[in-house]
Amino acid sequence: MDHDTMVDFGPDAVRQARDHNIDLTQLERIVVTHNHPDHLSPLELQFRRNGWFSHVSRELAVIGSRRIFSAILSFTAEDSGIYDLADLKIRPWYLQTGDTITDRDLTVTALEANHAPGKEAQLFVLERGGKRFFVANDTGKLPERNWEQLRGQKLDLVAIDCTMGTAPEQIIGHLGIEGVIDFRDKLRQLGCLHDNTLVYANHFSHNGLCLHRELEALFSPHGIGVAFDGLTVTV
Ligand SMILES: [Zn+2]
Ligand SMILES: [Zn+2]
Repeated sequence: MDHDTMVDFGPDAVRQARDHNIDLTQLERIVVTHNHPDHLSPLELQFRRNGWFSHVSRELAVIGSRRIFSAILSFTAEDSGIYDLADLKIRPWYLQTGDTITDRDLTVTALEANHAPGKEAQLFVLERGGKRFFVANDTGKLPERNWEQLRGQKLDLVAIDCTMGTAPEQIIGHLGIEGVIDFRDKLRQLGCLHDNTLVYANHFSHNGLCLHRELEALFSPHGIGVAFDGLTVTV
């Protein structure tokens, strides 16, 4: 989001940033949904250790549940004897489900995802300059109490988990094509969408059994975009 905020930091984050001309030295914060390895790579963060591979001068805020920080430190402690986030110039910002925090001009609200019981996976509404971005991955269908948190909040951009593609939604905690359309329709019912709200499906893998062009053919009649590496969206 802009060039100062990332959502999640998986093992390909550094490579992707380089490929798409994103200067990670401008990064001020990472908001982490959960500690599955495609969303959080402690190894990449470990490279921030001063005097080792880098000479980091800027502090980086990491925002997420307590599990995020225990996952980072359990890796760095085991791998390199790093027991303190300060050694990585990481400023932890604990965010529990239901909480809202404000870091400078960015507001982050956490909602409970339906994903990987025990992982405390979260969805986020990011708000800056009057624009709201709802990040909804990884998650399956949401329980009713979550929808109530969103009621009436005007969203400008929505990204929805579509891991399962055309495969049956048999894996707990992910959506497929029908699930994404239902999710979007529910947001519309709750008054969260306006005429210019952009909705994208994302988080694709082999599990979805679809190529990009096949996903586009399935989603375009519903007015839903299909995300891809390097996609830039302006709201
Ligand atoms: Zn996950
Ligand atoms: Zn994932």
